Amino acid sequence: MGNPTSSTPDTSKSEPLPPGMVIGPDGKPCKICTAFRHWKPPGTSKPKKAAAAGTVAATTVAAITNSDTDIRPAHCPPDVEILGRATWTFLHTTAAYYPENPTPAHRTSMLSLLKSLPLLYPCVHCAAHLGENMKENPPKVGNRFELSKWLCERHNDVNVRLGKEKFDCAKVDERWRDGPPDGSCD
Ligand SMILES: Cc1cc2nc3c(=O)[nH]c(=O)nc-3n(C[C@H](O)[C@H](O)[C@H](O)COP(=O)(O)OP(=O)(O)OC[C@H]3O[C@@H](n4cnc5c(N)ncnc54)[C@H](O)[C@@H]3O)c2cc1C
Repeated sequence: MGNPTSSTPDTSKSEPLPPGMVIGPDGKPCKICTAFRHWKPPGTSKPKKAAAAGTVAATTVAAITNSDTDIRPAHCPPDVEILGRATWTFLHTTAAYYPENPTPAHRTSMLSLLKSLPLLYPCVHCAAHLGENMKENPPKVGNRFELSKWLCERHNDVNVRLGKEKFDCAKVDERWRDGPPDGSCD
């Protein structure tokens, strides 16, 4: 697979896309890169018509905003947000239960898992951003504390890119392993 961003079409020539719609490396609207509410807003029976290919750069995926209203029917394939929440849940939880003293096999497997994401993650723009980020910030798999912190920081990099608040990385165990001190999750 080539670098998705390298095939990003020229953005200067055509009309703007509907807000939130993301173009994939093939020049067509990218369903798994777009939030469902932008792909199919309430009251529409068809996906929003996309403008000519190449109207929005891959990086404008960051324009997608968060919403409390999930209008996506449960039987539909995931959009960029459902996939993102599920992936973060898996990754943070796996980090939270990663050993404090991992064996070489643990380290190798975790590195393999993390390094596979830029290649395999279905939202190619997300994957490309992650790959660039991981070049500057190589995964830390020495123990569960440093892995959880590293992952929290990578998630925060995405949060910032999307205009969201940073998560307090001191609270990763509370969020992904222990639950809050008030016992409400026990
Ligand atoms: C590798 C990756 C790259 C992505 N890139 C993009 C992208 O380029 N564009 C795009 O539109 N979407 C991207 N996403 C999806 C995006 O990150 C969100 O998952 C999605 O927007 C839904 O956001 P959310 O607000 O529901 O919570 P999420 O960001 O999915 O977070 C889920 C929960 O994790 C907790 N949390 C939040 N931040 C942290 C943190 N730093 N550490 C630990 N826990 C935390 C919070 O309790 C939150 O409710 C990406 C997802 C992944 C896994």
